[in-house]
Amino acid sequence: KNGRGGERPLNVQVAVRCRPPNAKERLEPHFNIVQCDENAGQVTTPGTCGVVRKAAAATGEKTYNFDYVFGPTSTQKQVYDTVCSRAVDEVLEGFNCTIFAYGPTGTGKTHTMEGGKDEKNSNHSDDRHAGLIPRSVKQIFTRLRRSNQENSVRVSHLELYNEHITDLLSVSDEAEKLRIYDDEKTGTFVLGLAETTVEDESQVFQILQRSAKKRITAETEMNKYSSRSHSIFTITVHSKSTSSDGDELLRVGKLNLVDLAGSENIGRSGAVSQRAREAGNINQSLLALGKVINALVEHQPYVPYRDSKLTRLLQESLGGKNKTCIVATIGPAFSSLEETISTLEYAFRAKSI
Ligand code: ADP
Ligand code: MG
Repeated sequence: KNGRGGERPLNVQVAVRCRPPNAKERLEPHFNIVQCDENAGQVTTPGTCGVVRKAAAATGEKTYNFDYVFGPTSTQKQVYDTVCSRAVDEVLEGFNCTIFAYGPTGTGKTHTMEGGKDEKNSNHSDDRHAGLIPRSVKQIFTRLRRSNQENSVRVSHLELYNEHITDLLSVSDEAEKLRIYDDEKTGTFVLGLAETTVEDESQVFQILQRSAKKRITAETEMNKYSSRSHSIFTITVHSKSTSSDGDELLRVGKLNLVDLAGSENIGRSGAVSQRAREAGNINQSLLALGKVINALVEHQPYVPYRDSKLTRLLQESLGGKNKTCIVATIGPAFSSLEETISTLEYAFRAKSI
């Protein structure tokens, strides 16, 4: 039986991860002003810290509670074990799980999802820096090798830029026009999107290297591509087992790992900031995600899933029966406090879905 059928309580968990200060921030006077209490699951932003705060953010010291908090010294393994490992197990049981990284550009979304590949001396065999994607892939194959069920694993990888879908796994260099379709039986899907059957983790890592190349091309062709694009990596696991009375049991589980566009233009309430609006800097998909979250939080009868490609693609993961985790990433410095507060407020709202 397909995992999408059964009744489960809604399950949205929200985690916050604060990265360590970078070299530029270390030269600033207040480079480490965000306090993370991992045990209590709390993040505290300061009131004034001896500097006059920009007017809009003058709210005084504030403490936010989340399901999980990861401070600047948290490891990739810790984040994986806490927010992703259980999701992987559920996928193998036939459920759909989605993990989002949400936050301003430069706060660690890609680091969390993919890992620290631009760190010097980092290579593939040293997987201390590996992020959620390689770790999930590894755990899935480790678990499958232990079970004696018949199974198949497929991966797909797409990016959304300016409401245009790019298939990172397509072998053709031509830009295809990929469209989203809704099907009552199978759900929402992208027609023509490559779904590659993979046998083991090393095959997935090869595929990821190929998609990274395709991304570099996009990066050179489009302005600020990496901060404005959303990336969705999906692993689908089909497994077949036979019950004691001889019935065949088919399970299909899906894990979506989503690296969102930078949230710098999205304000606390999830709307586009005035400044960004004036500059014509509106990310349709990110804005729609905020509206969908608001509608779910407020139990509005109409949830505007169809307003963007991102929300259409992830409709089943948002507000449905599936398990969703949002990892909100922030920086530690006073210079980015405004964006940090917006991100924390946004993430805090999502907690009440
Ligand atoms: P984003 O994808 O949100 O724009 P990145 O993941 O590219 O941000 O991170 C920006 C920089 O900060 C990168 O050089 C990355 O290696 C570093 N970084 C981010 N998070 C961490 C972390 N938790 N620990 C160490 N370095 C980090
Ligand atoms: Mg990134």
